[in-house]
Amino acid sequence: MDISSKTTMKEMISKYNIYPHKKWGQNFLLDKNILNKIVELSRLTSEDYVIEIGPGLGTLTREIANRSKGVLAIDIDSSLEEVLKETLGDINNTRLKFADILKVNIEKELTNAFNLTDSNKTYKVCANIPYNITTPIIFNLLENYCNMEYAVLMMQKEVALRIKALPGSKAYGLLTVMIQYYANVEYLMDVSRNCFFPRPEVDSAVIKIIPHRPRKFKLKKEDVFKSLVRRAFQMRRKTMINICAVEFGVEKEKIREYLVDLDIDGNKRPENLTIHNFISIAENWPVAQEENLN
Ligand code: SAH
Repeated sequence: MDISSKTTMKEMISKYNIYPHKKWGQNFLLDKNILNKIVELSRLTSEDYVIEIGPGLGTLTREIANRSKGVLAIDIDSSLEEVLKETLGDINNTRLKFADILKVNIEKELTNAFNLTDSNKTYKVCANIPYNITTPIIFNLLENYCNMEYAVLMMQKEVALRIKALPGSKAYGLLTVMIQYYANVEYLMDVSRNCFFPRPEVDSAVIKIIPHRPRKFKLKKEDVFKSLVRRAFQMRRKTMINICAVEFGVEKEKIREYLVDLDIDGNKRPENLTIHNFISIAENWPVAQEENLN
């Protein structure tokens, strides 16, 4: 069955009375070429287990299943169960779970779904995700799981550009720095809004997120770093001197000297700092201010 053809998809939608929910980002992928490309770029092998977030009608699920050992597809919308039973009925290596991806433990679910004996089995993630929860999905994958090899995710293009942005550009921000903290990112391709039903108001892009293994940055003061980066981009028009003065509750003159010692120009704005600059500010900050600032 080719659900990615517009005619078949519309038949399924009317047969099962599906009303695409905006709140769950339900825009179904229609284009066979794009589907194939996503799966090719995911470099799956017949040994791979794959987790798909939000299978929808099962279009991408079928392609992943054809090229992997098994797919666990997790969707929040249990009313899709009937249609998925039909669209995936002829495939025996898919498992469905109806739950909120942000609330289940995907590694436990994978182990259970395929009766894996190794609870540390690695897996890949491949998905056209619900765009309204892109950021929580990515951080959930990066912060809470350790067996994921990488994730190939389709998302709103504007968000993909922010993730991949370079210092000095408008798109560079909290998301860029925080994802870089955990992972490398590859921008794979753009996808037009015309490839979906219903047609969304934004274009899309596919990116690959590869967590650093082992972790690239092991910070003593991770909390200080995270809080500083968050503050910096909340105040992105201010200079780093002003931002650090607020964040650390210390006079600007002291901050200026502190940044000079670290070889960072305190008059720069956060969008001009690299992740290494932020790390250096956080890691060198004395726990007790009296230690060496006075
Ligand atoms: N992958 C399909 C559908 C994409 S639409 C395709 O490409 O055609 C996004 C899907 O994510 C929908 O099926 C929606 O029900 C599901 N979804 C939305 N929020 C979710 C959540 N919190 N957890 C799991 N799935 C979710």
